[in-house]
Amino acid sequence: TTFIGGSIAGLGDIYGQVQKAIGSSERVLEILDEAPEVSTADFQKVKVDGNILFDQVRFTYPTRPEVEVLKNIKLDIKAGEKVALAGHSGAGKSTIIQLLLKFYPVQNGTVSVDGKPLQEWNLKQLRSNIGIVPQEVLLFGGSIRENIAYAKPEASEEEIIEAAKKANAWQFISKFPEGLDTKVGERGVKLSGGQRQRVAIARAILKNPAILILDEATSSLDSESEALVQEALDELMKNRTTIIIAHRLGTIRKVDRIYVLKEGEIVEQGTHEELTIKEDGFYANLVKLQLVE
Ligand code: ADP
Ligand code: MG
Repeated sequence: TTFIGGSIAGLGDIYGQVQKAIGSSERVLEILDEAPEVSTADFQKVKVDGNILFDQVRFTYPTRPEVEVLKNIKLDIKAGEKVALAGHSGAGKSTIIQLLLKFYPVQNGTVSVDGKPLQEWNLKQLRSNIGIVPQEVLLFGGSIRENIAYAKPEASEEEIIEAAKKANAWQFISKFPEGLDTKVGERGVKLSGGQRQRVAIARAILKNPAILILDEATSSLDSESEALVQEALDELMKNRTTIIIAHRLGTIRKVDRIYVLKEGEIVEQGTHEELTIKEDGFYANLVKLQLVE
């Protein structure tokens, strides 16, 4: 494939998108060097089960030493579990994800994947096991094929089509006269928000990571698109450890556990039912106010 060489000009968009997904605005250069969406072509992939542990994690951004952004965070997520992080904006949800992706070194406490502390993880090998579906999907200006096969450029036509089908994307891709070779972006076709999300989901399905990060879209899609995206996400989440940064109630109701964050601390955890029963609970109030984020 000529994809890697042929699309360099478009790659910045993906980093921008991942950066946006994890909520940082100051680390563009580092992210360009250490793209979370690494290609599987250039190194030996190490398969993980997807157990994630945060133990006694405290964190302060180096640029803002006066504020402790995470305080004694403990998360014990077993392989295949689906959990959500809920809490107001600024509570620390994105910071947790940034630590997991090794954008910052762990300062206090331990973060480990499959029992191995992040310090011992090779960055590419770690990130090759983590897929991300961001809030706002920006595709780069290549073909739909290149956008889907980004993390696995050696993928066959059949694999790409299968991933597109599972992502509910094939139904619209196959209607374009050029199919997978349809160009997207400024000089190509304009896809709707829901279609772009489904392309991103197809990319994640093809990447096949053990761990998945979903940053739920804040603005709602039209209801047909919403249903297709939700179905595709359900397919994507099967058999993968999934952390959802929750902005809406729909997906959060079904997860194994919700971690409720307030000012860098986990103040409650449990299922949606368990947490809503507590009448004056923090989560129960978020739900009442419809303020999941
Ligand atoms: P959430 O994702 O829950 O909205 P964040 O993890 O983005 O919360 O932010 C937690 C806190 O850390 C906030 O007070 C935010 O202003 C601060 N913060 C986030 N990113 C940075 C950064 N790059 N540098 C300094 N402070 C940051
Ligand atoms: Mg955030």
